[in-house]
Amino acid sequence: MTTRDGKDTQAIAQAVEALAQGDLVGLPTETVYGLAANACDDAAVGRVFSLKERPANHPLIVHVAQAQDVRHFAAQASDFAQRLMQTFWPGPLTVILPRQPQVAAAAAGHLPTVALRCPAHPVAQTLLAACAARGMPGLAAPSANRFGRVSPTQAAHVQAEFGPALLVLDGGPCAVGIESAIVDCTRGAPVLLRPGQIDGALIEAAAGCALRARSAADARAPGTLAAHYAPQARLRLMDAAQIRAALDVLGAGAAHIAVYARAPVRAASRRVIVRRMPQNAAATARELFAALREFDAAGVKLIWVEAPPPEPPWDGVRDRLARAAASA
Ligand code: AMP
Ligand code: MG
Repeated sequence: MTTRDGKDTQAIAQAVEALAQGDLVGLPTETVYGLAANACDDAAVGRVFSLKERPANHPLIVHVAQAQDVRHFAAQASDFAQRLMQTFWPGPLTVILPRQPQVAAAAAGHLPTVALRCPAHPVAQTLLAACAARGMPGLAAPSANRFGRVSPTQAAHVQAEFGPALLVLDGGPCAVGIESAIVDCTRGAPVLLRPGQIDGALIEAAAGCALRARSAADARAPGTLAAHYAPQARLRLMDAAQIRAALDVLGAGAAHIAVYARAPVRAASRRVIVRRMPQNAAATARELFAALREFDAAGVKLIWVEAPPPEPPWDGVRDRLARAAASA
């Protein structure tokens, strides 16, 4: 199997069949590409963990075609959780809810809770609806990359990670580009576990209540590890003046360095890759992971990134870059 056009109905049918057999499928969503398995098939979900080399105690997000399908997996949903789903689904928001104890145990890492998301991407929507019609009401799908590495935002990235044995549905480049915002809805008040494109202020407005600050007890799983989303090269966050000063020191001898900055930066050496970061957060999120992969492919050893501004729309990008820098 290999990459197939996600709009091709035969490819969708082939993917449904593969999932029903317990195989895995590369799935486009608006956030990043997922490595999907039937959420109710613990053996298939086990293959996701082993292919990704992901520790078994890092639970997966279960994707559903529509909010109604949440009832298969969640025992209940608080009022604010329902408001969040109504406001942001389909879209890049994941809610953590109490789990129906008899389903999706492996996907949930055997926790009493389950993470649920309804993706907006048309190929994900089509596949999820076809799976639901085939008796598979949810797909467990973490990002389709090896554990700790940069998430894929194009079908080719998934194929590069896992090779031609995996069927990948090609839905084009991901429109959001960073993983979903995750809100724990099992603690009486919403707790933001991972920032995404939807920022805290929007979540509070939709929930109708304030976010509760995260405590150590809320820290579960990979999106919340200090070091994650790491390119091969070492990534450093700097301000524009630091980047310019460092390039000046190295002068024409600078090599194996990529610079990713919003401010204009010029390098004396042609062996430095300089790429302009977009001025807005959404455009940066969209290209961020592909840019990191391109720097890696060019063989750079260092990636110097201008730190994103402190404003809320940049929270998701800032979070991913901080974790990538922590891995260096
Ligand atoms: P990923 O699939 O790699 O984008 O990450 C899934 C994220 O969902 C993890 O990083 C966890 O933070 C979160 N998650 C999934 N299931 C649960 C759960 N039952 N309780 C708390 N967090 C969860
Ligand atoms: Mg991931």
